[in-house]
Amino acid sequence: MSKLSRDKVVTVLGEVPPDKLGVTLTHEHLFHSLRQREIFLKILFTPDYKNPRPWLWDAPIDITKVDMIRRDPFCNMDNLSVLNPELVTKEVLYFKMAGGGTICDVTPGGGDNPFGLKMVSSASGVNVIAGCGYYLQPFHPPNVAKSNVEELAEGMIRDLTEEMVKGTGIRAGIIGELGISSKMHPDEKKVLHAAATAHKETGAPIMLHQGPPSGLEAISILLQDGVKPDRIIAGHCDATGPDLDYIREIADRGVYVEFDTWGFEIYLPQLHFSWPNDRDRIICLAELIKLGYVKQILVSHDYGSKVQLRSYGGWGYSYFLEYVVPRMLSDERIGRSGKIRTAINKGDIQTILMENPKRVLPWH
Ligand SMILES: [Zn+2]
Repeated sequence: MSKLSRDKVVTVLGEVPPDKLGVTLTHEHLFHSLRQREIFLKILFTPDYKNPRPWLWDAPIDITKVDMIRRDPFCNMDNLSVLNPELVTKEVLYFKMAGGGTICDVTPGGGDNPFGLKMVSSASGVNVIAGCGYYLQPFHPPNVAKSNVEELAEGMIRDLTEEMVKGTGIRAGIIGELGISSKMHPDEKKVLHAAATAHKETGAPIMLHQGPPSGLEAISILLQDGVKPDRIIAGHCDATGPDLDYIREIADRGVYVEFDTWGFEIYLPQLHFSWPNDRDRIICLAELIKLGYVKQILVSHDYGSKVQLRSYGGWGYSYFLEYVVPRMLSDERIGRSGKIRTAINKGDIQTILMENPKRVLPWH
């Protein structure tokens, strides 16, 4: 491992000391390409699914369509493509103006526009940390099935220590998000073993796209391979319901639990899947804090479409800071029966937004 990287955070513009991170969103996707979009559609639209609004499929986004697209982000092709660095810079600046300092883009391979990540970070002054490795198996490039663990690990180590795309000089700073399907695919397991090797070689943290039950299995594999629990981030913990028992089971192993879909309150008809709402997230988070897990919590929005951006009527990257934080600090009312304190104080919020990223993101 390069001595230069010890206890440093690796951003797309180079290494920075942990103190320079500031308020950090640990799970976003700044750019999206046609390739990603087509695979998503393959997963989501099974042959028996009937699109209720076929006319919306190819229509360009405008304000009259935003409500429908917000409720079903995958019903419109234009929504799933974000490739313009000027647009992304403007959106990232809203986060900076609200007090933000760092964003992790955990699309493996440096997002769909690695050079764009560099442009956005230079233009906005916000640190951007890029991910490497492989998402869910349907997204794997053909080389994953053909490669063995050592070859996959070599590729990740190259992305972390040299560069992700030849000639750009851009290094990955985190391994992930590594996709774990609800029934783990053997190639996803192979990627996990490779990630453990790459971690031990570099010290870079590992982030999982996971849920019950296979998420716990994935964590066990990493721990058995010698990864320390406090180097692992379990993504999408809030998308489980949030299921406090499952989240506690992860946290009890010493792993970071990430609430990373703030502002997502949708129902996907094709998957029969509902995301929770922010109130559920706050109540669960308050419970976790009460139980003593505040030092293991991370937050983000996991944006991956146009209508989540302010330029297209969405909440934008400043949403957590501008809307969720004040709501966490205020009383939450339950029905007509009275008030409950969410029991989240300013110190807890500072721990979640600044101290925890500062501990988990540096390589060691
Ligand atoms: Zn994600």
